[in-house]
Amino acid sequence: MKTPRLAGQRAGIFPALLLCLSALPGPAMAEPRLAMPVDCTLGDTCFIQNYMDRDPGPGAQDFTCAGLSYDTHKGTDFALPTLSEMARGVTVRAAADGVVKGARDGMIDRRYTEAEDARIDGRDCGNGVVLLHADGWETQYCHLKQGSVQVRNGQMVRSGDALGQIGLSGRTQFPHLHISVRRDGAPVDPFTPDGDPGTCRGGDARTLWIDDIAYQPGGVVAAGFSVDVPSYDAIKAGTPNVSPLPGDAPAIVLWGYAFGGRRADVLQLTITGPEGRVFNTRQLIKKDQAQFFRAGGKRLKAPLPVGNYTGTITLIRNKQIVSQRQVTTRVD
Ligand SMILES: [Zn+2]
Repeated sequence: MKTPRLAGQRAGIFPALLLCLSALPGPAMAEPRLAMPVDCTLGDTCFIQNYMDRDPGPGAQDFTCAGLSYDTHKGTDFALPTLSEMARGVTVRAAADGVVKGARDGMIDRRYTEAEDARIDGRDCGNGVVLLHADGWETQYCHLKQGSVQVRNGQMVRSGDALGQIGLSGRTQFPHLHISVRRDGAPVDPFTPDGDPGTCRGGDARTLWIDDIAYQPGGVVAAGFSVDVPSYDAIKAGTPNVSPLPGDAPAIVLWGYAFGGRRADVLQLTITGPEGRVFNTRQLIKKDQAQFFRAGGKRLKAPLPVGNYTGTITLIRNKQIVSQRQVTTRVD
């Protein structure tokens, strides 16, 4: 008697249980789905300099098993090309609905050196926000601009709400948002939440992002014309493209600023004017470089022909174009 009754109960309960289960969030739905946390266009006005370190040992590798990371890096760095974009203001937004668990502002925007350690005093995140989401998930936003943080402890935020702006506070050497994703305190790589450390993500593996974020293995992030070779500090600050070039300029120079350079890459710089090619150079990258710039050009013995000039900067890896950027100027 027991057996049929149990079977009957099962038959009665099971459909209800199924309904219940399908209405509840499954394991995948309990995770936050993350929106783009910065107001910029990857590959154009910003780029990802570092991903989470997936190498369990002393080395560093990103989720594709390439080198866009550094040892023990526990987040993703959305970087701006120069300080001038930072000064103009790029909004950092909540990646998901949540409650503000912590917020800090008031730290100065200054490029990190070891001499800054005492001032920073362990506050490596700089001005930042921690959001608490459902089921023990957290997101943390670091290096925000001084005076830009606009949420306070306990405040509820919606996905996409402004939290502050990208800055240079805390332990950082370039303007960027570092975002960490954690579950129950453990770091999670939003690009490969299911991946085991030390493995490379397959092409069709799922991510936590609502909109797919294409992997860029390196790229040219800024370019311009000038009349002499600019300093690297000037490039990082945001050297503007000179246009028009003065007719009596002593030289015409094209510069390009790039990230994710690998040993044996080539950066090609080409200037084309109204009468054809003016200058071309291919410069070998001799070691891996997180960021670098190159410049090249021509001394002028006679004024340049009047007209429009195009500079093309191309990052080449294994004979394939990784990234290309064009900039124009004119001679009146
Ligand atoms: Zn970072």
